[in-house]
Amino acid sequence: MSVIGIDFGNESCYIAVAKAGGIETIANDYSLRGTPSCVAFSPKNRILGVAAKNQMVTNMKNTVFGFKRLLGRKFSDPYVQKELKHFPFKVEQRPDDGIGIRVNYLGEDNVFTPEQITAMLLTKLKESATIALQTPINDCVISVPSYFTNSERNALLDAANIAGLNVLRLMNETTATALAYGIYKQDLPAPEEKPKNVVFVDFGHSSLQVSACAFNKGKLRVLATSTDAQCGGRDIDMALADYFCQDFITRLKLDARKNQRAFLRLLQEVEKLKKQMSANSTRLPINIECFMEERDVSSEMQRSQMEQICAETFTRIERTMRAVLHNSKLRPEDIHSVEIVGGSTRIPAVKNLIEQVFNKHASTTLNQDEAVSRGCALQCAMLSPAVRVREFSVTDVQPYAVRLAWDATKGEDGDMEVFSAFHAAPFSKMLTFYRKEPFSVSAYYSDQVPYPDTFIGQWHIRDVQPTAEGESQKVKLKVRVNIHGIITVASASLVEKKQDAAQNDNIEMENSNENSQGQDAAMDTNGASQDQQQNGPENQEVRDDEMKGEPQQKQSWTQKVGQWFSGENADDKKDKSKDKTKKVLVKTIELPIDAQTHGLAKHDLNSFIEQEGKMQAQDRQEKERADARNALEEYVYELRGKLSEGEALHDFIAEDNRNRLVNQLDALEQWLYDEGEDQHRQVYSDKLTELKTEGEPIKQRRLEYELRPGALDDFSRAI
Ligand code: ATP
Ligand code: MG
Repeated sequence: MSVIGIDFGNESCYIAVAKAGGIETIANDYSLRGTPSCVAFSPKNRILGVAAKNQMVTNMKNTVFGFKRLLGRKFSDPYVQKELKHFPFKVEQRPDDGIGIRVNYLGEDNVFTPEQITAMLLTKLKESATIALQTPINDCVISVPSYFTNSERNALLDAANIAGLNVLRLMNETTATALAYGIYKQDLPAPEEKPKNVVFVDFGHSSLQVSACAFNKGKLRVLATSTDAQCGGRDIDMALADYFCQDFITRLKLDARKNQRAFLRLLQEVEKLKKQMSANSTRLPINIECFMEERDVSSEMQRSQMEQICAETFTRIERTMRAVLHNSKLRPEDIHSVEIVGGSTRIPAVKNLIEQVFNKHASTTLNQDEAVSRGCALQCAMLSPAVRVREFSVTDVQPYAVRLAWDATKGEDGDMEVFSAFHAAPFSKMLTFYRKEPFSVSAYYSDQVPYPDTFIGQWHIRDVQPTAEGESQKVKLKVRVNIHGIITVASASLVEKKQDAAQNDNIEMENSNENSQGQDAAMDTNGASQDQQQNGPENQEVRDDEMKGEPQQKQSWTQKVGQWFSGENADDKKDKSKDKTKKVLVKTIELPIDAQTHGLAKHDLNSFIEQEGKMQAQDRQEKERADARNALEEYVYELRGKLSEGEALHDFIAEDNRNRLVNQLDALEQWLYDEGEDQHRQVYSDKLTELKTEGEPIKQRRLEYELRPGALDDFSRAI
């Protein structure tokens, strides 16, 4: 069983595998290490990855890209509306305000969700890994931008689920990079020493992510992050394309904005130009043949001009980099180095900005394209029993403050901040409520979140009743930011005390059967936090249900679990001063929770899984058909070639028969380009079998001839 890490990028994806000998990057079916995040549709099949990107200009309406930015968002989201302007394919509003991507597939109109499209790409990556490693792939770690919220993270987990991948962790991209950096560093300070602080800058195709991390031997702690989700290499492409559009209008009276195909080609050409400008500061040409109205266009640009045109992007980069200093409270002199990854950090102006902000050269210790996937593979290996790697503890943060709100009873506040911005993650906190009846809590992100909707989820705690004496019950909620960075109410339990008859002194024992690792912090709902401990990250042995993206939230538990714990064994956190030998029994009953959060409903998920299975079968069938046609075509060419004058088989068949056979081969070739273009697999393989009954005996005669002693001398004499 292999463990893999996937960097799901806006422009391209990378897959890495952890093996005994180290981390390796997996190449795809085109022997390329990066696979374009591109999914296309044709009348016969789906086209995924490199092949999809290659046919983009000729199949614009059915080639989908940029969908990472649509995951988990609503159609009416202004951010989505802005994106739509750049897409040559159709995107529409679904009845629930979800996003639908309308394409022509198998000759019919089909509408797919961003989760489904993402799943298609993941399926391709999974297939590449399966082929390269010759083992089934199931467990993986997938990267996400650190700014992704609950809805985006859940959407990606749903996509992975549709693709049949078991995600051990959604890992923040810059954290994966930090892990890939730290695990091989031999010179990290000892745990008790001052940490080595490193800043990571990932400037990719559509976003900028910066993080500040503190390293000690065997561990890394993310201190803070800062991001700009709308600032990436493509914004530079767009600004350059705008510039040339204007230039062509002025000089040539050609408006590329009126022709989607021309604009797409312009974008591809400016991207090439941009890359050349990173290495070269002289004037560089741009030429596009048959651009519009059958006219060629050409122009030129140099680096300094590009820097002026894209000034806004560079200002945003500077602002985001300064923000990480503010968020982490580090000064430039506290930072050991600034490591860069992501394709767009190759731009010299970006490196200059790094020098200005942090007072040091950008360093390139890591593979700029592959660091994220390598970090994910390392993390996957650590979480999986299949491969052994060096232990390295990773403490991440979750970037937005999170509030919990509830219906207040007497003397309570109705809302509190459960996690501050940049709070350590994963992490759980216990909240105690006193209630006589079922109640609900809701979670929200703070206002800083760059989304129109800050709602995270609502959880309804059922089966709460007054005690026999008519009093409130003590209900403990476990609020968690889990290993995927998803905020959830992980459990609710009723805590009942039962005094041992021999005792008259009450000691409250707590045993919430999961806080044995000491990672929990308890707090009361009145905001005064009690016994708040920050004992670092959770143990990475995570309960199964959490690995699957909280599927339990979509159901409700009906089962009650009741257990009596003896106070002698329980770890009394609350009242250590009291005599531990006195006995009190505490009973905790798990309460059923109805959760309303982001993510696909079970029946939608199942139907998408089924649909994906059918599409895969269709792709397989089409591939077998194409392979059978190719095999026949190849045989026709090969045999005809060998039958011609002076070639290997010419003399091993009587002339009449040879002429007849060659005519038959010519006819077959013709047929392959006519009605034989689109036949069932069986038709091709039947024809091939039939043809082989003629061709193989000739080959056999030649072989027998060759095997005779001195045969080849005879043969060379014969010709
Ligand atoms: P994201 O991280 O935003 O999800 P991604 O991981 O797919 O996207 P990368 O592969 O890191 O993005 O970077 C791709 C971007 O880098 C593209 O915009 C590409 O044009 C740009 N890029 C690649 N090489 C160069 C170069 N030499 N000079 C300038 N830009 C470059
Ligand atoms: Mg990236």
